[in-house]
Amino acid sequence: MAEANPDLRPPISGTTRLAAVIGHPVRHSLSPVLLNAAFAATGMDWTFVALEVAAGNTARAIDGLRTLGLAGLSVTMPHKGAVASLVDHCHETAEQLAAVNCVAVEDGNLVGYNTDGDGFIDGLVRDAGRDVVGGTAVVLGAGGAARAIVQALGRSGAAEVLVANRTPDRAENAALLAGSAGRTVAMVEIPDAVRSANLVVNATPVGMGVDPNPSAPTPIDPGLLRVGQVVVDLVYHPLETSWLVEVRRRGVEAYGGLSMLIFQAARAFSLWTGREAPVDAMEIAARAALV
Ligand code: NAP
Repeated sequence: MAEANPDLRPPISGTTRLAAVIGHPVRHSLSPVLLNAAFAATGMDWTFVALEVAAGNTARAIDGLRTLGLAGLSVTMPHKGAVASLVDHCHETAEQLAAVNCVAVEDGNLVGYNTDGDGFIDGLVRDAGRDVVGGTAVVLGAGGAARAIVQALGRSGAAEVLVANRTPDRAENAALLAGSAGRTVAMVEIPDAVRSANLVVNATPVGMGVDPNPSAPTPIDPGLLRVGQVVVDLVYHPLETSWLVEVRRRGVEAYGGLSMLIFQAARAFSLWTGREAPVDAMEIAARAALV
């Protein structure tokens, strides 16, 4: 494993700026690991903490952000939707998703962003070395992560974004986010859809928290995938699911969810600080925390 970067920050003092993540539960969040690694590697006088905020207390937390003068806020479940209606202004990506995962303070106003979808695209470009322009993507799932990705694929020029979800209504809603490229596929149509795809994304939690083993559940039959396609499993705990391992064993290019996690945080770092994020340092810290 690569060595952790030294912490180049000055000691915490009266000038240290504070950023935080709110969520419930939040103690498992990797945001403090990722963002403190970024501040440490850049030597910025910032620190980042996780704040447990119960579901009904989102408005109080946002008041607290204003009162205490936090310099940036990450937002995780169950607050992403509520924060979208509590900030002064939403960036159009967050507005369309009605979900905010990052709040920046701009000219004294709180601005809500959603960096998940762009973080996914950044990770894909870094890992697979290619963009999605003109391609066909299949997205399994229609929850928060899937919606952000479907929207980002549509914005990034995918020709077709095919959404499959066990609850069809949610698939319909998610597919709309990709504009004219979006379409739903019924669960029975998944094999045909997957055959036509360049990119296949698992945005369901199937395989999450399960030690890799041959009998672990898989989001779709690995036998449907073929060499030449790119597969992304958003699950990052474990770092590689049994499905990912099996897909790769068949010679198909496949990546886990760590890159999206890193790059959505990297975008938050840049929105708060105006600087490019040290993604290598963030990745080293995240991998160390996930073993
Ligand atoms: P979510 O909002 O709860 O949505 C979950 C989606 O998965 C829903 O569409 C749900 O279908 C579907 N689903 C759940 N269990 C299923 C099952 N057993 N079989 C088939 N479909 C199932 O969750 P989320 O926030 O989108 O997260 C989804 C996954 O992405 C999780 O594993 C999460 O850890 C991961 N994630 C990764 C990142 C990253 O940065 N790598 C970021 C966010 C999330 P229904 O609509 O029918 O309920």
